[in-house]
Amino acid sequence: MSYKELIEEVFQKVIKLENRGQLACYIPELAVVDSNKLGIHISTSSNFDFGIGDFEEKFSVQSIAKVFSLCLAYKMLGESIWTRVGLEPSGTGFNSLIQLDNDNGIPRNPFINSGALVISDILLSHLTDPKEDLLKFIRSLCKNQDINFSNKIAASEKSVGYRNIAMCNFIKSLGNINNEPEDVLDFYFDLCSLELSCKQLSEAFLFLSNKGKTTHDDNQILTKSQNKRINALLQTCGFYDESGDFAFRVGLPGKSGVGGGIIAIHPNEYAIAVWSPKLNSKGNSYRGMKFLEEFTTLSELSIF
Ligand code: GLU
Repeated sequence: MSYKELIEEVFQKVIKLENRGQLACYIPELAVVDSNKLGIHISTSSNFDFGIGDFEEKFSVQSIAKVFSLCLAYKMLGESIWTRVGLEPSGTGFNSLIQLDNDNGIPRNPFINSGALVISDILLSHLTDPKEDLLKFIRSLCKNQDINFSNKIAASEKSVGYRNIAMCNFIKSLGNINNEPEDVLDFYFDLCSLELSCKQLSEAFLFLSNKGKTTHDDNQILTKSQNKRINALLQTCGFYDESGDFAFRVGLPGKSGVGGGIIAIHPNEYAIAVWSPKLNSKGNSYRGMKFLEEFTTLSELSIF
């Protein structure tokens, strides 16, 4: 079966399932998203692409954007970033504060909120125009200028961002934030507010399935070794406290966000993006997980 036929078949299956879970109600703007949305888009390293459902509609990618900021920091500063952030699955929720005290303010990995705050701090220290430079980087990955932050979503999250504010101040007190927490948080909330469609997401992430090089202009974004390491981190830490389950069921590196998006990478094959806003109890898209599980089962293709 071709990818197109597989996706059509699994889409029909998943759309008939009960749409279980909850919207990310802790961010007011995300609580009013249409929960029936379902979009899929695949981009392959051999230049095939296909989408179905709401694949062209932009949504709030939230934590998926943490991969962009990490890749940019890694590209600029290389291995030195790992002195500020760890490489281990946290075994706790994405917004947990409890390990930071014991770990002296070094977050377990770059994909939990504390890790993304530290990566944001690193970017603030090294970019001349951090928000614009980040946008430029993401736009260059998919050769698409139409990628922006959402002021509305950033403001909405900021208005109730007590936990992230506490976390950033706590890490600052432990010496692992160099800039003013307010500036770091401002960058972080904008980062999380990025809006991309499934099509834009799969195009922007395709370089991770192509040994770190963009397919549209052969730009080596990450070295092959860095690319392997990002994929390894996505495999072990990309799904909060459900990363083991995702590896078990789907068998691909990937990253989810509380906007209901998931990006998954099949090295040397494809990047696939799925969006369905309702989340399971671990904060991952309920139907997104179901779709990808079924997709890798039917295609009999995973990294294992
Ligand atoms: N902006 C969200 C937060 O900090 C990101 C969470 C996520 O998508 O995992 O709570």
